[in-house]
Formats: sequence, structure tokens, C-alpha cells
Amino acid sequence: VVILGIETSCDETAAAVIRDGNEILSNVIASQIEIHKRFGGVVPEVASRKHVESINGVVAEAMERAGVTFDDLSAVAVTYGPGLVGALLTGVSFAKALSFAKGIPLIGVQHIAGHIYANFLSGGMEPPLLALVVSGGHTEVVHMPSHGEFAFLGRTRDDAAGEAYDKVARSMGLDYPGGPVIDRLAQEGNPEAYPFPRAWIDEESIDFSFSGLKSAVINTLHNAEQRGETVSKQDVAASFQAAVVEVLVEKTVRAVRKTGVKNVVVAGGVAANKGLRKRLTERAEEVGFSVHFPSLDLCTDNAAMIAAAAFPLYEQGKFHDLDLNAIASLSLTKWAATPTI
Ligand code: ATP
Ligand code: MG
Ligand code: FE
Repeated sequence: VVILGIETSCDETAAAVIRDGNEILSNVIASQIEIHKRFGGVVPEVASRKHVESINGVVAEAMERAGVTFDDLSAVAVTYGPGLVGALLTGVSFAKALSFAKGIPLIGVQHIAGHIYANFLSGGMEPPLLALVVSGGHTEVVHMPSHGEFAFLGRTRDDAAGEAYDKVARSMGLDYPGGPVIDRLAQEGNPEAYPFPRAWIDEESIDFSFSGLKSAVINTLHNAEQRGETVSKQDVAASFQAAVVEVLVEKTVRAVRKTGVKNVVVAGGVAANKGLRKRLTERAEEVGFSVHFPSLDLCTDNAAMIAAAAFPLYEQGKFHDLDLNAIASLSLTKWAATPTI
């Protein structure tokens, strides 16, 4: 089974060819980060236009590197939400045209399901499991009893973890996206230099809140500036990261204890974080559960994860019609409940 995956939900134009759900034949990503950097974030109109310019070349390169032609494809899979609607439409339109022209099945994939299935590509994913989703726009703990079934155990009430990283980085005058930069600085700082707040919410809660932490960091920087003091960026980064990681890890432990599910995967861009990978691995050993992370290059947006998420649907013969449309706010549970033919 050879599936072409396409991903254009945000600022990466990506295409990948995957065999049998987990063998990567090619994985091509054209990032627009350099273009959006000077705006400090993604500009939707610019993103849409760039996707249109890049999609043909990115797909052609993925096919060539995989050594396959369109006639070899079993199906085409594409992200149809959530994301920027103009950006999503580029991928969806391309996939529909290809499905129609070659008479191959079309499989629409929810982007966060894709992030979760990035774990499938490195062999570490067998439901029932818990997924800690930590991306640029989402932070949630998901229970996945079987392939294609999802239930939320907890979620952020304000900022997503990646968003908190990006906003704090911006206030520190660091480059976009801020997550990797703060992660790097944090390795050289003292995580106990600043006692930033941890939002536990209450003893049972698996929900998250990062806006108070973000404000505390901004206030610390602001106060130091007013007093004419210099702060160590390394210390601020390390203290901020310690606060984020402690909450993410301990809430995951709560979810494990609450459900008795001892199989955890991590998903989304923040899954690349060194501090999170280290601490969650340590705690899993102490508490007695297994934890799996995607390989580093598959944590952020890519199309390999989209093709991987489509594989179980392909096996079940669940395909979409050519009336598939981009849905900006498509949720994981809504996607799972969507009846496909
Ligand atoms: P979503 O998937 O929710 O739609 P997105 O696609 O924009 O959002 P991802 O591609 O999953 O997000 O991840 C990008 C985010 O991950 C950014 O916020 C970025 O700062 C963060 N990130 C990437 N690497 C790291 C890291 N090493 N540490 C912390 N955050 C990181
Ligand atoms: Mg991105
Ligand atoms: Fe993403």
C-alpha cells in the first residue's frame, strides 16, 4: 500500500510517500518560516499564495525521491483541517484533482490526528493509548482506545504550549518560531533562577493554562528593564521551560493514574523539546508507564504523518468523496465521527 500524503494547513508545504503506514519512502517539506519571520508569525494571505506556488514542485520531488509514479499510488491523503482555510484549500484541491484524474481513493486527515500518528512512523504506537498533544495551536490530553477513536481528557483553557513558547520568545526579542530557540538557551541556564507559576488548576484537573506563566515572564523582563538590570536570557528560558515541562509531565501522570492506560505518546512541535523528552521519560520510569516520542524531524508539521494517519482508514476502506472541503476548525472527535464511504 503506497500513500501520498499532502499537508498545507499552516506555513509548511509538505508531501510524503509512505509504504504500509510506516515506511517513509520520501518526506519533503518546503518551509515558509523565513518569509513569515519578519512579521513574527504566520501571515495567512502570504501563506496561501506560497502554498499555491510550491505544491506542484513539492509533490513532484516527493514522488521522484520515492521512486514512484502517480500510477503506483494506492491513495492520496490530505489535511483538511484544522488550519488556515486558504492554506488548507491548496492541498485539498490538489489531492481531489489527483484522486479524480487517477481514480484513486481520497482520504481526508485531521491535522492533530496526523501529529499523533507521527509516532506510528517510528514504530511506537499501538492503541489503547494516551496522547499528550503539544503543538503550536493545541495542548490536550487525548484518550485513544483504538485506531480512529478519540476522547479528550483535558485541554488548555488559554494558550497552547507552543504558542506560549513563541510569545515568550518574542517578548525576549528572540527569533520566530521561539520554541527551538528557548529550548537551546534553556540548556545553558538555571531552571531555579526564577520561580515562575505552575497552573495546577486543582488537584484532579488535567486542563492546562499558560497565560499566567507567559505574563509572569513578561513582567519579570519588564521590571528588570525598568530597573536598568540585565537578565540572563538563559536563566529566564530555563526557568520558563521548567514551569512548562513540570505541568505537562505531571498532568500526563495524572491522566495515566486516572485511566490506568500505561501507554503514552507525545505529539506536536513541542514534542521536540529536550526538557520535555528528558523529564517525561524519567517520570514514566518512576511511575511505571511507557512513553514514545516521534523522531525529531517528525514532531513539527510534515506530510509523512498525514499519510500514516490515513493508513488505518485505507485498510478499513474509509474514503472521502470529491466534495471534501477544508474545515478551519475541524476537531479530532468530529473527524473521527465523520461517516466516510
Ligand atoms: P497545530 O499543529 O496546533 O495546528 P502548528 O502546526 O503551527 O500548530 P506544530 O508544527 O505542531 O504547530 O509545532 C510548531 C510549534 O512547536 C511552534 O510553536 C514551535 O515554537 C514549537 N516547537 C518546535 N520545536 C520546539 C522545541 N524544541 N521546544 C519547544 N517548542 C518547540
Ligand atoms: Mg508550522
Ligand atoms: Fe501542526
